[in-house]
Amino acid sequence: MAKKDKAAKKRAKKAPHPATLAAQTLEGVSPRDGAVVPDVRPSTTYARDADNGLIGDAVYARDASPSVRPAERLLAELEGGEAALLFASGMAGAAAVFQALRPGDHVIAPKVMYWSLRNWLVQFCADWGLKLDLVEASDPEAIEAAVRPGETALVWIETPCNPTWDVIDIASAADVAHAAGALLAVDSTVATPVHTRPLEFGADLVFHAATKSLNGHSDVVAGALVTDDPEAEIWQRIRANRANVGAILGPFEAWLLLRGMRTLYLRVPRASQNAMAIARHFDGHPKVANVLYPGLEGHPGHGIAALQMTDGFGAMLSLRIQGGRKSALKVLGACNRFLRATSLGGVESLIEHRATIEGDRSPVPDDLLRLSIGIEEVQDLIADLEQALDHA
Ligand SMILES: *Cc1c(COP(=O)(O)O)cnc(C)c1O
Repeated sequence: MAKKDKAAKKRAKKAPHPATLAAQTLEGVSPRDGAVVPDVRPSTTYARDADNGLIGDAVYARDASPSVRPAERLLAELEGGEAALLFASGMAGAAAVFQALRPGDHVIAPKVMYWSLRNWLVQFCADWGLKLDLVEASDPEAIEAAVRPGETALVWIETPCNPTWDVIDIASAADVAHAAGALLAVDSTVATPVHTRPLEFGADLVFHAATKSLNGHSDVVAGALVTDDPEAEIWQRIRANRANVGAILGPFEAWLLLRGMRTLYLRVPRASQNAMAIARHFDGHPKVANVLYPGLEGHPGHGIAALQMTDGFGAMLSLRIQGGRKSALKVLGACNRFLRATSLGGVESLIEHRATIEGDRSPVPDDLLRLSIGIEEVQDLIADLEQALDHA
């Protein structure tokens, strides 16, 4: 409630729309020479004056480099948060959250989630002495059944989640977590702040693989965390972890990420519109057994998605191809316009056979192709998939 009040207050102050903030960045014109674009700041160390006082507020680039602050400031603002931290990769940012917990803490995460993180988490929790429960997170009752009041420290969810694009109800997950004294972290990589701002639904931490839509151009690996309570103990521990362990983002990557975010509010709605058009077009196609996209009324998560997503349902969808693995691989091989590559959230459309990427232990059905939709003219993408499906 308090969070919603704060968001309402911000709106009442007629704060500019996030699209405006993103386009302009928060940095303003350089007082030094009028440059309208922030500088890349490669310096690793910051000089002191003759009295041994710091000239600015930076000391050393591993602690908190001025080179990453413009992108952190902007992302915090776009998420309606108070602070953000950038990391050397998405995985480094996610790991910092779990490393901020203590042995014996109980953690809940979804059964279906980003594969590399799930794999790492299972091993890490075993090594670190965290008690991990993997639950069917799209069912709020499953989270409720798994929480242990006083013992659960963190509930981690991902929505929409890889690669079924199931949608998790953030507000009810937050209520359940908070009632048990736990924090809620949301992997919002696919939604981006354009579609969902998890802090407004009660989340405590928002995570992004900034490698994906935030940067948007498939040329930076980065991770990000956002909070609306920078004084919270977990945030202090996460920040100290980054400073001490050093999984910081490099200055050039931070600069590219800021540049990528400036067009977020053009790229993401466009990609989501394209995804919706593709999902509608292939829903019911004779060669397609199922289209998984939360924007379709028939998707199990559509109801919640309609409540917690605005301006679209994301750029990710999966197609289950009639005829199983062999047909799926034939369709994949016949694509000319889609690039056959993993990852997501770039301006160019990608297609991949998830089960191949995830390997033998993958729970992903082997007839599933995962599509990351870009900003191309959608008719070209539809035509490419139509001709590829002729090969199924
Ligand atoms: C890519 C991704 C990650 C990991 O990010 P990296 O930058 O590859 O380390 C985590 N969660 C989701 C949903 C992702 O798509």
